[in-house]
Amino acid sequence: MRIETKCVQSGYTPKNGEPRQIPIIQSTTYKYDTSEDMGKLFDLEASGYFYSRLQNPTNDMVAQKICELEGGSMAMLTSSGMAANFYAAFNIVECGGHIVSSATIYGGTYNLFSVTMKKMGIDVTFVSPDCTDEELNAAFRENTKMVFGETIANPALTVLDIERFAKAAHAHGVPLIIDNTFATPINCRPIEWGADIVTHSTSKYMDGHAAVLGGAIVDGGKFDWMKYKDKFPGLCTPDESYHGIIYAEKYGKEGAFINKATAQLMRDFGSVPSPQNSFMLNLGLESLHVRVPRHCENAQKVAEFLSEDPRIAWVNYCGLPGDKYYERAQKYLPNGSCGVVSFGVKGGRKAAETFMKYLRVAAIETHVADARTCCLHPASTTHRQMNDEELIAGGVSPDLIRLSCGLENSQDLIDDIDQALSKI
Ligand SMILES: *Cc1c(COP(=O)(O)O)cnc(C)c1O
Repeated sequence: MRIETKCVQSGYTPKNGEPRQIPIIQSTTYKYDTSEDMGKLFDLEASGYFYSRLQNPTNDMVAQKICELEGGSMAMLTSSGMAANFYAAFNIVECGGHIVSSATIYGGTYNLFSVTMKKMGIDVTFVSPDCTDEELNAAFRENTKMVFGETIANPALTVLDIERFAKAAHAHGVPLIIDNTFATPINCRPIEWGADIVTHSTSKYMDGHAAVLGGAIVDGGKFDWMKYKDKFPGLCTPDESYHGIIYAEKYGKEGAFINKATAQLMRDFGSVPSPQNSFMLNLGLESLHVRVPRHCENAQKVAEFLSEDPRIAWVNYCGLPGDKYYERAQKYLPNGSCGVVSFGVKGGRKAAETFMKYLRVAAIETHVADARTCCLHPASTTHRQMNDEELIAGGVSPDLIRLSCGLENSQDLIDDIDQALSKI
């Protein structure tokens, strides 16, 4: 099936007389006839559900759809995108380990790596997404366990050279994890370019209606953990907390990563989405392939308007010929990038605040990828914990306005921007 059909139909195929829409299994627990039956589940001899903190059928159906959209081998849902990124990293990087990450990533993930995981004894080295091969290779250490980046960075809008980062990761015997939230599998499937694991904040385009928080992790199923078993003891040596199981042996390349993240991390941290939320996420996924191109079309028109307006200092949108990332986007995102445009208004921080105050269609929100257009000034909100140096290294200039183009009429968006600019 092609991706449009997968958006609509994957994950759940009802049998004769069963509900057409995916069932919401709103149950914490599952009933068994004998203790022996249930014991087999705990011994991982049989597959089945026993407690919804670990797995729930509704969640699994939606995870399966996202897995097929990304072309992965196995996937899981989490209660937020942050949980997805934390689980994906912590599943392979333990105390004493090291992460190489693109510096232009989501502010929350930047904090996760540089502050919170540091407290767990994990180090990170940030590299520019545009660093040379020499700089990239120099970032690796003996104890490096993974490389991380975002297809299109939020909010910097840098485009990652996924193939090059994958090659460098693999040359050092570690996987590449890509947060594909902004591009969505409609516009880019990182596994096809060599990424090993893909994460999502499904709170963005996948849900698409600013209704439900959520995250997903998809394993490409190609990384050979056993080949580097000294690097990944969590996957390649017995898990004493789980009957001495060796995940990489029991589940192979295709299933080790997600089974470990479920059996160990979901068990102990419990960031599981509610089945009700997964049902709503699935409603969003059913129209993802219809909505994403329209978000991109609106963003393209808005970016073109901004790029020609003398009141605007600069515009970042990789769909604009002349944008720093235009060529790379033509390779990785030939059908469109995302609905988010960033720009600076002439007059700096003060002018930006005035401009935002007068917007009528676009609302000020800490969000992107909603059906409704919204905008944000990261330096005074989401990124306010970062100093100017860190902001610039993270690709966020102090005057940056992030505009997430929704699904409205594009001329209404342009008219709104035009009238707000006239108030400065
Ligand atoms: C929003 C976002 C996250 C965090 O996701 P939540 O669902 O808000 O926890 C992670 N990565 C990217 C790229 C995001 O845009």
